[in-house]
Amino acid sequence: METVDYILVGQGVAGTLLGWEMQQAGLKITVFDDGRADAASRLAAGIINPVSGRLFEVSWLYDTIYPLAKATYHAMEAVLGVPVFTDRDIWNVWATAQMRNAFAAHPTPYSVFPEGDRYAGLLEAPFGAGIVKGANVDLATLLPAWASHIGARRETFDMTALELKDKGVVYKGLQAKAVIFCEGAASPQNPWFGKLKFHPNKGEALIIRLPFETTDIIKKGVTLVPLGNKTYWAGATFAWDYTDISPTAAARAHIESQLRQLLLAPFEVTGHRAAVRPAGPDRRPMAGLHPHDPRLGIFNGMGSKGCSLAPWAARKFVGNLISGEAIPPEIDINRFFRALR
Ligand SMILES: Cc1cc2nc3c(=O)[nH]c(=O)nc-3n(C[C@H](O)[C@H](O)[C@H](O)COP(=O)(O)OP(=O)(O)OC[C@H]3O[C@@H](n4cnc5c(N)ncnc54)[C@H](O)[C@@H]3O)c2cc1C
Repeated sequence: METVDYILVGQGVAGTLLGWEMQQAGLKITVFDDGRADAASRLAAGIINPVSGRLFEVSWLYDTIYPLAKATYHAMEAVLGVPVFTDRDIWNVWATAQMRNAFAAHPTPYSVFPEGDRYAGLLEAPFGAGIVKGANVDLATLLPAWASHIGARRETFDMTALELKDKGVVYKGLQAKAVIFCEGAASPQNPWFGKLKFHPNKGEALIIRLPFETTDIIKKGVTLVPLGNKTYWAGATFAWDYTDISPTAAARAHIESQLRQLLLAPFEVTGHRAAVRPAGPDRRPMAGLHPHDPRLGIFNGMGSKGCSLAPWAARKFVGNLISGEAIPPEIDINRFFRALR
């Protein structure tokens, strides 16, 4: 029988970064992913933004997680032979004078006012703009490159075929210490973790063409991320109350209206997609083995920040698996089991 250390189910951002950390630690893995088109990681823009909220506060643990994420993606680039990480200015266009004043009143190491207007005549920006030093992960390149590197199995993992044995698990002739579920928004259907509270939310984005080229991310209500060749990702919406995962006319109209408030130049819509962000109730990752059954684990809850959170959270999870280091309580899956007791 083939034996590995861990079986991973799901290879979005979470499963990719967890698999990477496991391989770096010398663990042998088999990864299953069925490549569903509506997975969050297949639509995400891959933005890493250091600040959030109306007061432009530095995001939770950013000074720790960002250097680790950047080093991790660069290490993956070296092994996989593809570029995936780009530092980018996030060009925030102010919708009001209050927003500009709030930005000025809350300086961070990542915020600067621009020297001049890079987009005169192209953007509607009567209150000017501010730059936040961010980054961008090219998930459309990273995910298939990693899948091919580790020989991920392109199939749906059948929960009913998983056998829980005395010393681990067996799945269709494959033996492992444990299965780690990195299933994204599919986790509420998981037989062992489905009872946890999940707060998934649906996001929609357009692909558009513009008559100009830039390497910046541009933000004003809607966010534009350059994909090259004058093509941009434009999004995204947030909906907690949704009945299906198809793209909707209402979301498209909303994004187009935001684009009209931002752009002086005309735009052409060439694509429209929807996906579900996997999030927990406290918007923090969920990492760890099941407290009542260490043959089962979960890595989920990346919410809208998978690209920045997953490298750090994966490092902590693997540190726990190989040397028993404590998983930080904010991301330890035990916090929900204690609450449910
Ligand atoms: C519109 C939108 C924009 C976003 N923009 C950003 C952004 O700019 N920056 C950022 O950091 N984050 C962004 N996010 C959030 C980001 O997408 C998520 O944090 C992240 O992708 C979650 O990754 P995941 O691996 O947990 O889940 P997923 O990406 O959903 O991956 C789960 C994987 O598991 C597989 N799977 C599930 N069940 C099974 C099974 N039984 N067998 C086999 N395979 C299975 C699926 O096919 C899928 O590949 C955005 C999300 C959306 C929707």
